[in-house]
Amino acid sequence: MDADFFRAWITAVAAVVQEQRDHLTQLDAAIGDADHGANLDRGFTAVVAALEADPPATPGGVLTLTGRTLISKVGGASGPLYGTAFRRAGKSLGDATDVDLPALAAALEAALAGIQQLGAAKEGDKTMVDVLAPATSAFSKAVAEGRPGPEALAVLAEAAEAGAEATVSMQALKGRASYLGPRSVGHEDPGSASSVLILAALRDTALAAQ
Ligand code: ADP
Ligand code: MG
Repeated sequence: MDADFFRAWITAVAAVVQEQRDHLTQLDAAIGDADHGANLDRGFTAVVAALEADPPATPGGVLTLTGRTLISKVGGASGPLYGTAFRRAGKSLGDATDVDLPALAAALEAALAGIQQLGAAKEGDKTMVDVLAPATSAFSKAVAEGRPGPEALAVLAEAAEAGAEATVSMQALKGRASYLGPRSVGHEDPGSASSVLILAALRDTALAAQ
C-alpha cells in the first residue's frame, strides 16, 4: 500500500462522511450537540484540499497531513481525537514508501493509543474507542495469523460495525453524551458511527485496488 492508496482511502472517507453527514448529525442530536457530521465534513473537505495542494510522497506523510489538518479545522472532541489518531498512525509508518499489513496494524494500534492517551476513554464508555479497540485488535490478530489483506480488512470492518452496534445499550461515561447520564442509553454513539465509516472505507479502498 503506497501513498496513492492512502490518499485514495482518505478521499473515500471524505466522500462517505459528506454523504452521511446528516446521519452523523442526527446521531449527535440525540445525545450531543448535533455537530458531529458538520465537524467531520468540514475537516475532511479541508484534508482533501490539503492533500491535493501538496500531495505527500509517503503513506506516513499522507496520514500526518490528514491529522494535522483535522486538528486545525475541527473543533469539538472529535477533531483533536481523530487528528491525533492520524498523526500517530503517520508517525508509526515513518518514511516507508510501501506499507505491509503488519505495519498497517501497528499504525492502527498507535492511532488507538493516541486517542486513549488524549481522551482517557476505556472500552464500554460509549465512545469511538468502542469501535477502534475491538476492530484494531481483531485486525492485528488476523494479520498475525497470516490472513490475506482483503480478509483481514473485512475482519476489521466487521468488528468495527459490531462495536458501534454495541454502543447503543451503553451509558456514556466520556464526552458530551455523558452529561445525559442514563438517558444516553438507547442511542448509537456518533463517533463510533464515524469510526465505522473510516474503517469500512479502508476495506473498500483495498478491495477496489485489487
Ligand atoms: P463534541 O462532543 O465536542 O460536540 P463531536 O460531536 O464532533 O464533538 O464528537 C463526539 C464524539 O467524540 C463522541 O460520539 C465520541 O465518540 C467521541 N468522544 C468524545 N469524548 C471522547 C473521549 N474522551 N475519548 C474518545 N472519544 C470521545
Ligand atoms: Mg457534537
